Amino acid sequence: MHERSWKDKVALVTGGGSGIGRASCLAFARVGAAVMVSDIETVHGLETVRLVEQAGGRALFVRADVSVASEAQAMVAATVAGFGRLDCAFNNAGIAGARGTVADYEDAAWERVIAVNLVGVRLCMKHELKQMLIQGSGAIVNNASILGTVGFAGASAYVAAKHGVLGLTKAAALEYGTSGIRVNAVCPGFIETPMLEDAGFTTDPAVRASIEALHPMNRLGRPEEGADVAVWLCGPEASFITGHPLLIDGGYIAR
Ligand code: NAP
Repeated sequence: MHERSWKDKVALVTGGGSGIGRASCLAFARVGAAVMVSDIETVHGLETVRLVEQAGGRALFVRADVSVASEAQAMVAATVAGFGRLDCAFNNAGIAGARGTVADYEDAAWERVIAVNLVGVRLCMKHELKQMLIQGSGAIVNNASILGTVGFAGASAYVAAKHGVLGLTKAAALEYGTSGIRVNAVCPGFIETPMLEDAGFTTDPAVRASIEALHPMNRLGRPEEGADVAVWLCGPEASFITGHPLLIDGGYIAR
């Protein structure tokens, strides 16, 4: 099938109001795609739209909590209403959650991490896939983590959700492999975003240094380094890649 050029493509990014999501909206726009920015937080999402437009791109905003089924459905519907189609979906929205051991983790907090980071990805995929099936083409990238492949003490909900995202990605890749739809995941190491700051990993210099040292490149990743890989996975250069969990981790998993 003839591959559409980037300037005719429409990309949807969840969690587009901050961090890797905002950088991805800018990266999709840079290659020429129209971008639907989605986020739970309207002010941050609209700021991303402004930044995309300032850089010469096209963007709209739709507010959605990805863990709410009706909002995930409305988000995809708004994308199709706004731009006529959906070619690329980066399911990026996520939360770090509290720290705590498995036995002591507060139940509602544990379930919220699963609801946003795993159930939310599936709800978004459900409606993105329905639209892509109508079109006969599409590419989905889910934002997992290195913690989708290894454990991290004190973050069991996050680790369980991200392992689940990789399983979901692989199952969907098998289900839609002959439908023109590719489904992949990215697995970033620690990336310098508001999420990391809120979790207290970057504010204290000693903690920051210990986190940097987990990566053989001895630094944190930049949001753009995640964004560019997500865009690449959606593009024509990745046309024979599906079901793949791509590490963007400065060597973290190589140890
Ligand atoms: P971030 O800066 O906190 O951005 C996440 C965005 O998602 C925020 O705008 C947030 O809004 C939004 N969001 C939260 N809950 C949502 C929901 N229920 N529905 C829709 N949007 C929601 O975080 P980030 O570091 O860029 O993380 C993006 C993704 O990368 C996450 O899935 C994360 O797990 C993954 N990741 C991050 C790292 C890292 O080190 N930063 C490493 C590996 C993987 P609010 O700000 O209002 O909460």
